[in-house]
Amino acid sequence: MHSRYIPLLASAALAAGAAGAATSPKALVIMLDGCRADAIENARMENLQALRDGKWQPGYKCAWSLSANTIPDAVASSAPNHTSIATGVTAAKTHVESNGQFRRCDYRKWPSWLVRLVSTRPGAKALFLFSWKPDCELSPDPRVEFVHGSDAAAADTAVKRLSAPDAPDGTLYFIDLPDHGGHGSGFYPYSTGYLNALWQADAAVGRVLAAIASRPTFAAEDWLIVVTADHGGYGRSHGMPGGQATTVPLLVAGRRVRQGRIPGTPHNYDAAPTALAHFGIDVSGMDLDGRPAGAETASPPARSLSDGLAAYLPFDGKKSANAVSGDVSPRPFGAAASGVPAGFIGGSLRIGGPKAKGPSGVRLAGSEKLSFENGGDFAFAAWVRMDAPQKGDPVVLSNKDWNSGRNPGVALIAAKKAYTAKVPGVCFNAGTEGGRFDLGTYDVAYGEWVFYAVTRGADGAVRFYQGGRDGYLYCMSENAAKPALSTGLPFCLGQDGTGAYKSNFAGAIDEAALWTRELGHGEVRRIYEAGRGGVPLSALIAR
Ligand SMILES: [Zn+2]
Repeated sequence: MHSRYIPLLASAALAAGAAGAATSPKALVIMLDGCRADAIENARMENLQALRDGKWQPGYKCAWSLSANTIPDAVASSAPNHTSIATGVTAAKTHVESNGQFRRCDYRKWPSWLVRLVSTRPGAKALFLFSWKPDCELSPDPRVEFVHGSDAAAADTAVKRLSAPDAPDGTLYFIDLPDHGGHGSGFYPYSTGYLNALWQADAAVGRVLAAIASRPTFAAEDWLIVVTADHGGYGRSHGMPGGQATTVPLLVAGRRVRQGRIPGTPHNYDAAPTALAHFGIDVSGMDLDGRPAGAETASPPARSLSDGLAAYLPFDGKKSANAVSGDVSPRPFGAAASGVPAGFIGGSLRIGGPKAKGPSGVRLAGSEKLSFENGGDFAFAAWVRMDAPQKGDPVVLSNKDWNSGRNPGVALIAAKKAYTAKVPGVCFNAGTEGGRFDLGTYDVAYGEWVFYAVTRGADGAVRFYQGGRDGYLYCMSENAAKPALSTGLPFCLGQDGTGAYKSNFAGAIDEAALWTRELGHGEVRRIYEAGRGGVPLSALIAR
């Protein structure tokens, strides 16, 4: 029996809104220009972290990825990615392959999601706020309100418009601050200018989110908040392949979203179809490259760090290695080192470099027989000290024949100069079924202990971490759906899987560990933070 008692109907509508019925869908897509995914935690972007953790407003959850990628078919620069974030298709369709090419896109065929919204929902209001002036050429349409101004003015406008009773249904909000900070003084390693710009961008996001939550009608509304970036950066630039510029965040927060990590490698151009799907608009016939995100999450389950731990080498005993679990036993190449050289925590493994006679390092005998979860999940973590510039492209860790990067297996490569890097750094190489892929490069400071971790998950993503004693944990990621991890060769420290590579690593390794499973982001950070505080992995392992 239907009640005609108006207040009851009103409260029923409120309850329905809180329960997730699409009473009044609204979407806000925020693009943080030049925001590296790893900066969200390291730059203390508290508003974005709260959004990611599902703590924005009661009933709101967040599907997130800190290893989303930029578009694969154009350089990691602004215009190509702005166009793709707005339209949901990549450069093969937009033809926007570098800055200055916004007009190359046929927006009648590939309009922005704002234009698609006002086309399919007559009467809907759409707003595009931006501070980088060339964006005025991005899918112009008289039904979409374009507002250009400084980042400060855009934030004020966003607060004013999104708290108003007649707030736009769809809003695209581009914040330029991080890019400005990165170009000015460095995206990686972070500069204070970049961190400050990120913090300011986060503060602007916080103001806008607070304005939305303060709406008198908020409880009856169904908001979707999407946050992503057009690119990250390395040094003072971006546009290079290999992770530093191509790894970006993707946060999707809403009432009907699942909390947790988005599986696989999502992309920044998933933003457009995600926003459209929020309005109940069927995107399946639009030939978009992006896919709606938020309905699926697959966070790795919480496990003990001893689960899947195949080898742990703290190098604190009288031998060069000790305390290895299970089926793997460490065998030094050549004569065993005498004594225990001072390490990061306790002793360490010292590796001879070019002066050593014959191969130097440790072979993890038996690791060639390990069975890796999901056919290729693994994780490696260690503290590494490079003592000098390396000679001959040596490896820190590898289970492959490093004479070719296309060979199956993986390699953590010491001091390789890659892409636009001005100095040699640490890279990651993996052979795949179709060839190879490389993530890099991370800068090296000679004589300093630096944390590295690399892990591949069942979602097909490889995540490659670096962390110094300053507390900044960097991460870049790339999809590796078809890894070729097993090689029949053992993992070796300081040498490749053959143990006969022509060049030895020059430096020291400590607290090295190998798992036959993925390490989640939280687990990597836990190991890193403990090590930074002088706490060995052994103290974290539940017994
Ligand atoms: Zn940009």
